[in-house]
Amino acid sequence: MVQRTEKSCNFAADFTKIIIMKKHNFYAGPSILPEYTKQKVAEAVLDFAGTGLSVMEVSHRGKEFVAVMDEAIALVKELLRVPDGYSVLFLQGGASLQFLMAPYNLFRTKVAYLNTGSWASKAMKEAKFFGEVIEVASSKDRNYNYLPKDYAVPTDVDYLHITTNNTIFGTELKSDPQVSVPIVADMSSDILSRPVDVKKYDLIYAGAQKNLGPSGATVVIVRDEALGKTGRQIPTMLDYQTHIKGESMFNTPATLPVFGCLQTLKWLKEQGGVEAIEKVNITKADTLYGELDRNKLFTPTVPAAEDRSRMNVTFVMAPGYEALEKEFLDFATAQGMVGLKGHRSVGGFRASLYNALPLQSVEALVSVMREFESKH
Ligand code: PMP
Repeated sequence: MVQRTEKSCNFAADFTKIIIMKKHNFYAGPSILPEYTKQKVAEAVLDFAGTGLSVMEVSHRGKEFVAVMDEAIALVKELLRVPDGYSVLFLQGGASLQFLMAPYNLFRTKVAYLNTGSWASKAMKEAKFFGEVIEVASSKDRNYNYLPKDYAVPTDVDYLHITTNNTIFGTELKSDPQVSVPIVADMSSDILSRPVDVKKYDLIYAGAQKNLGPSGATVVIVRDEALGKTGRQIPTMLDYQTHIKGESMFNTPATLPVFGCLQTLKWLKEQGGVEAIEKVNITKADTLYGELDRNKLFTPTVPAAEDRSRMNVTFVMAPGYEALEKEFLDFATAQGMVGLKGHRSVGGFRASLYNALPLQSVEALVSVMREFESKH
């Protein structure tokens, strides 16, 4: 089954298509996917694994789909070098449900949260249902445009919750925090964009719809030993142990999205994995931030270079040029750029540079910005 899927891969042809693509997709999520993923999903929607049926029409318990789930889980483990003693799950409910499931399963006495944006705040809100939540630091005072640095994490908390990439505000914790307590991380918008030392984490979760696949699936990586220690009754569907025992099939999984995730995981492996894609991601981010720092018309919203996200680059018109915002958006749109409008809580623009976005799209954006500068 695995071999059959591999046989029909054609990465060279896909690469050609990426170069000649017409739209440059900067949406924050759902967002750009590799051509390979789209092509394989399109094929499987019509004929899945030679069954003569759509991937949407077959039983999730049939051997063909079980193989998809198994391979997707195995590839997450391989690409992120997940050590023994961890389970990888494909669930539903998005990262938003993980805001609740994390404390349900791991909160014993008290927990610590780093507040770096609206998603972090939403995660913290759910944890408060279970008891004392310590906000170790917050960057809300400057509309989350920086990452707090000097904060202390009490040594007696069950975990420190972080949001590694702040999709709305354009900041990213690009390395694993050095703390003595287990970490729980929302990696929705930068999972698989760089290597991670998984053993520092009790839990990692991510909605699929940025670096992985279509919306509808959520990836969870959980340390088995961390579970079953809260002493509380956990409703069946919210208990990670249910899904570990059920091998992500306790209830009907999101079959089509999981199939899509598998294709992206295969694509990523073919690109050289997370180490190789990190290099490309650094080049893409440096290219765009370099232009933002140079171009007189634009300013990045995150001043400190070390805090700037490689995945979501947020920027506004520079002081004195604010009136040009709509004109620039229209100008870029006319040249095939989509998804550049910033989130309403930051304004301006946001260019999301997820794994699947080719460097050529960033270069195209830079040349549009230069052209616009020369007009003004
Ligand atoms: N966390 C982060 C960092 C996000 O970017 C998002 C969605 N964009 C969420 C959580 C919420 O994810 P979902 O919509 O899958 O619940």
